[in-house]
Amino acid sequence: MFESLQDRLEGVFKKIRGHARLDETNVQEALREVRLALLEADVNFKVVKAFTERVRERALGQDVLKSLTPGQMVVKIVHEEVLALLGGEAQTLDFRQKPLIVMMTGLQGSGKTTTTSKLALWLRRHHKRKPYLVPADVYRPAAIDQLHKLASQLDFPAHPSTTGQNPVDICREAVEEAARQGCDVVILDTAGRLHIDEPLMEELKAIKAAVNPHEILFVADAMTGQDAVTVAGSFNERLDITGVVLTKMDGDARGGAALSIKEVTGKPIKFVGMGEKASDLEIFHPDRAASRILGMGDILSLIEKAQEEFDATEAAEMERKLRQAQFTLDDFRTQMRRVKKLGSLESILKMIPGMGKITKQLGEVQMPEKEMARLEAIIGSMTKNERLEPKIINDSRKRRIAKGSGVQVGDVTALLKNFEQMRMMMQRMMGGGKMPKMPSMPG
Ligand code: GDP
Repeated sequence: MFESLQDRLEGVFKKIRGHARLDETNVQEALREVRLALLEADVNFKVVKAFTERVRERALGQDVLKSLTPGQMVVKIVHEEVLALLGGEAQTLDFRQKPLIVMMTGLQGSGKTTTTSKLALWLRRHHKRKPYLVPADVYRPAAIDQLHKLASQLDFPAHPSTTGQNPVDICREAVEEAARQGCDVVILDTAGRLHIDEPLMEELKAIKAAVNPHEILFVADAMTGQDAVTVAGSFNERLDITGVVLTKMDGDARGGAALSIKEVTGKPIKFVGMGEKASDLEIFHPDRAASRILGMGDILSLIEKAQEEFDATEAAEMERKLRQAQFTLDDFRTQMRRVKKLGSLESILKMIPGMGKITKQLGEVQMPEKEMARLEAIIGSMTKNERLEPKIINDSRKRRIAKGSGVQVGDVTALLKNFEQMRMMMQRMMGGGKMPKMPSMPG
């Protein structure tokens, strides 16, 4: 996930290596590019500012070693500072506790329930612990079912929570029940919302007060970048979390969340989710991640990519997908998230070659925040296959998706219909008639 940042930094280092000595000018120049590279990787701008300031001071300060060339020196300093940003030593859980009570928190769709079962499996495999899984999201029946299903697949006992119960009572009773069943870890899968809201925070605080968890993990979707960082900050303020789990690190997130969250919250990333399978959870190793980012092993003549170029590649890919009707709900969601950051859908469509004239025909395409959140929730309740191939979504899948996202079946149908229409329209407008191949179309 750090590939493009790595490419950029490599370019910067290659340039500075050519200088015989470090002075204000060439350090400034290198740092300007480091700054751009970090911003492009979606690192929080305050973090970037503090980071480059620290590197500048050190590079120009006393600790420049005579034995190193200026280039090596800058690489060394940047490496150390990146490591500090990522959190230094790897950290996991406090295993002295028995039973160990872990409270999972985070927004809906972040991967909380999946991570609950992954963590249980990890604890059994690596520490021979006996976890007890506790669904405590009483607002979405699907959430309880989901955890019960995962628990039974992996053969873990799970608390028989029901939607009628109070989540605080569930958690309190579950801790007692876990002890009765001889379990030495209790993992509480608390409720999530689409956004931070006050009643949720109050509920989580009440659960914390009732069961005194040893760990409060905030689960964040790495793909949401700076949003994840902001939300982590709020959860930490209210709950004093003990660590972060960054999920979907197997995706193409640019790394901004990983590089900002420790600096912003002061809390370490403890685990990373590397896929959808139960075994796809790993301890986060800041040193390995830092080395990967600065992957200096082979100094290929990688050309630094200018920001414009980066955008152009991405836009070209999007254009290709639109033309070939391969634009999926996944892409749609990515674009939607970007809209949230940049303003209007129009401004994004304009970045795609050939789309300028189309946006004129579409007029101002503005989507209200709430509607976007709803669409995101619906798409978030789909499986990867469903997002890539919406044709497979039959009535029973629709019912499941509706249940999972708290909407009516009709809403799911409407989204799919609108998406298909949009896709066809875009394809027609882009002159995609040359390639009418639609693999999912029967016949
Ligand atoms: P919750 O609403 O926070 O409980 O989210 P879920 O656990 O239901 O996860 C939402 C979606 O994210 C599901 O489709 C998961 O399979 C997926 N997911 C969770 N963690 C990962 C991960 O590390 N990698 C990938 N690729 N997908 C993940």
